[in-house]
Amino acid sequence: MKKSLLLLISAAFVLAACNAPKASDESASPADKVLLRDFNPTVVNNIPVTQVDKAKFPIIDMHSHDYVESAADIEQWCKNMDEVGVLNTAIMHCSWIGRPFEEVVELYAPYKDRFRFWCCFDYSDMSEEGIQKACQLLERYHNELGAVGVGELGDKGEGDTYARPKEGKDIHIDDARIQPLIRKAGELKMPISIHIAEPYWMYLPMDETNDGLVNAVTWHVDTTNCYGYWKLMETFENAVRENPGTLFIACHYLNMSHDWPHLGALLDKYPNMYVDISARVAESAHTPRATREFLIKYQDRVLFGTDNGYELQMYRNIFRVLESNDEHFYIPEYGYHWALSGFNLPDEVLKKIYHDNAERILNEYK
Ligand SMILES: [Zn+2]
Repeated sequence: MKKSLLLLISAAFVLAACNAPKASDESASPADKVLLRDFNPTVVNNIPVTQVDKAKFPIIDMHSHDYVESAADIEQWCKNMDEVGVLNTAIMHCSWIGRPFEEVVELYAPYKDRFRFWCCFDYSDMSEEGIQKACQLLERYHNELGAVGVGELGDKGEGDTYARPKEGKDIHIDDARIQPLIRKAGELKMPISIHIAEPYWMYLPMDETNDGLVNAVTWHVDTTNCYGYWKLMETFENAVRENPGTLFIACHYLNMSHDWPHLGALLDKYPNMYVDISARVAESAHTPRATREFLIKYQDRVLFGTDNGYELQMYRNIFRVLESNDEHFYIPEYGYHWALSGFNLPDEVLKKIYHDNAERILNEYK
């Protein structure tokens, strides 16, 4: 659903020149020729730059995928995890990456103390009988193959299109047909990790008013024939409310990092809801004070996750944001034009987000 648009935006509204020439005189200022998408500033401030090579506390990564080609890659991944301080990593099965679930478990078996497996719901047969079979399969994955959770389910408007072995087109999380599966996950004490929607800017008009434009223009969501942002949020809330015995982990802060009060209100209302922070560093580190306040207030309900391969620098970028008090730095690969700042989280909060909350869910929630 991503739509690539060619967009040429003059940097005139981000770069102001002294003695600015008249707009019609294009050759007068180089700034008039800089495109917003090419904006790649160099920080000139003499301010602290913190390198966090290893996380301050041991980590449980609650959001990752089967990114490897071979056992040698897994070995390298384990080495990287050691180097940055990750104890173990959730391998979440979903349609856009990797091999069948049984093969994932087999490939990672020699390293199973470092990885935990999450499986999908099977939507191959949506009849009542088919769903019963899917419930049995879920039980088998849990009991025999060690699946500790369900996920990553993913609904960006068209239904659970992340599912394996078959996409759940038009199957949203509050669909009556799949409620037995959600209840079954609860009975088995398997949390459900679900990716709902995308960051809010991706749904807004692609014009000069769009704050996330540089990224949103290629990560745009076309909702013409599917659910939009708030409708998706409604499906999620319905499922969480109707299944108090099942734990839901809303991936990527539920894609609601633009509205902490709203997200906080949901967490207040539903004790069976958590969020993971995966792949939304850039979407939260441009508002460091508000994000810090949210993370401190909801320190018992937030889980660490990456969702972005296993390069050392990928981990270290996240540590810098969570741990340091650095300000005004850019991480170009995140794709936004805005600068980031660290959250300088207190130790006790870091410890919970990095490790303790996940440990509690995975152990006590059994
Ligand atoms: Zn993911």
